[in-house]
Amino acid sequence: MRKPVIAGNWKMYKTISESVETAIALKPLVANANHCEVVIAPVFTSLKTVADRLEGSNIKIAGQNCAPEKEEGALTGEVSPVMLRDAGASLVIIGHSERRQFFAETDGMVNRKVKAAVTSDLTVILCMGETLEQRDKGQAEQVVRGQLEGGLNGLTASDMSRIIIAYEPVWAIGTGRTATPEQAQEMHAFIRRVFAQRHSEDAAQDLRILYGGSVKPDNIAGLMKQTDIDGALVGGASLKAESFGEIVNYKR
Ligand code: PEP
Repeated sequence: MRKPVIAGNWKMYKTISESVETAIALKPLVANANHCEVVIAPVFTSLKTVADRLEGSNIKIAGQNCAPEKEEGALTGEVSPVMLRDAGASLVIIGHSERRQFFAETDGMVNRKVKAAVTSDLTVILCMGETLEQRDKGQAEQVVRGQLEGGLNGLTASDMSRIIIAYEPVWAIGTGRTATPEQAQEMHAFIRRVFAQRHSEDAAQDLRILYGGSVKPDNIAGLMKQTDIDGALVGGASLKAESFGEIVNYKR
């Protein structure tokens, strides 16, 4: 039985005090959410303060990115997986389409980050998804297969328990245009099949695959009814405690 994960990606929004305010408002709204894991990913500067304020709650903390090196080094501007753990994070989002698009992150770089993160005992939310142009050209599955295989290249069977996939079609992120539950289900089932071929059927059955792309309180329940959708990675609608709380407490 896969436990769903509902994760909020706060992107580059919120000062420290705004982050704390949202986190504290969220806490009681999701306190009884035993049906899923609740995760928020604040900006680096807010991580430690938010993690401290949420200690003892059922809300987990994620970084939004990490360095491709595990511990430390001469890498100006980077934050390592070990440093994320030190700040209170237990997960990290890697390979978000905004990183791929605006910071030229390749599958090779994503793979190095994934390896650094899993060896630092972080759970990775590995993001992938096709652009509208790729979908229109009929290349969606090929693109997602490449990102899945590239991102997980060289990982061991035991690393797989630290991997969560987020399928986020680029055309649905921040656009208000959600994939239909059927479109999302189709790609999630494909990801699970590819994962089973590459790893094992058992590992594929345990793999949590989240959907991301304009998830809102009014479309989450339909998405969560799909067999292969195991949660959501939420951007815009996670910035307000009330709407994120409603998403976490979707009608089951
Ligand atoms: C995201 O950034 O991961 C995302 C899914 O954003 P939004 O929910 O705003 O589309």
